[in-house]
Amino acid sequence: MHVDNYQNKGKRRLMVEYLKEKGISDEKVLDAMNNVPRHFFLDSSLDSIAYEDRALQILCNQTISQPSTVAFQTQLLNVKQREKILEIGTGSGYQTSVLYYLKARVYTIERMKQLYDKAKKVFEEMNIHPQCFFGDGYLGLPGYQPFDKIIVTCGAPFVPEELVNQLKVGGIMIIPVGQGTQTMHKITKISETETKTETFGNFRFVPMLENKG
Ligand code: SAH
Repeated sequence: MHVDNYQNKGKRRLMVEYLKEKGISDEKVLDAMNNVPRHFFLDSSLDSIAYEDRALQILCNQTISQPSTVAFQTQLLNVKQREKILEIGTGSGYQTSVLYYLKARVYTIERMKQLYDKAKKVFEEMNIHPQCFFGDGYLGLPGYQPFDKIIVTCGAPFVPEELVNQLKVGGIMIIPVGQGTQTMHKITKISETETKTETFGNFRFVPMLENKG
């Protein structure tokens, strides 16, 4: 059981100041990140560094993305209340919780059972209720489509066509694309058959893998 004390809150405020300096300007995103306790998603041995701007180890050799990356992707996603959002790569559940805090209807997929189970426990502890799925993000969630927005939090070697198919017309997907290093893509679905792509710099994510356990 984690606690959120004044020290954690203080560090979180400093993290948010740092995010502002790094160019994050969306007040709602900053407010969400000031409120969601990132240390809840990490092993308690990492409490003291939970609010530094770095990726940290979670289970299964995966990482929680660094706060500036979470802020950047969330800002690009431009979340509105009640929007139906699909996240690929639940991981620790931190990004999921930021989206939930922004009052989106969040659906999230994770391919590693241990991470899926752990994230669900943390969500219960926090009394938040995103829809969690254990499965392959390449396939999306055909039974729950279409989505207003899709966010991919692992490095995709290419843009999965299934995910574009599950996006509403007018919807957007934020996805880091590439092997090794990824370029952040914002893909807007402008009609049933056309998309527009904008790019936003380079990042390093753990790879999006096919669902082989
Ligand atoms: N959003 C997470 C980031 C975790 S790292 C957080 O805030 O902590 C990316 C996650 O993507 C890892 O947990 C990894 O297991 C998962 N992943 C990789 N390939 C996937 C796939 N094909 N489908 C679903 N999840 C995948």
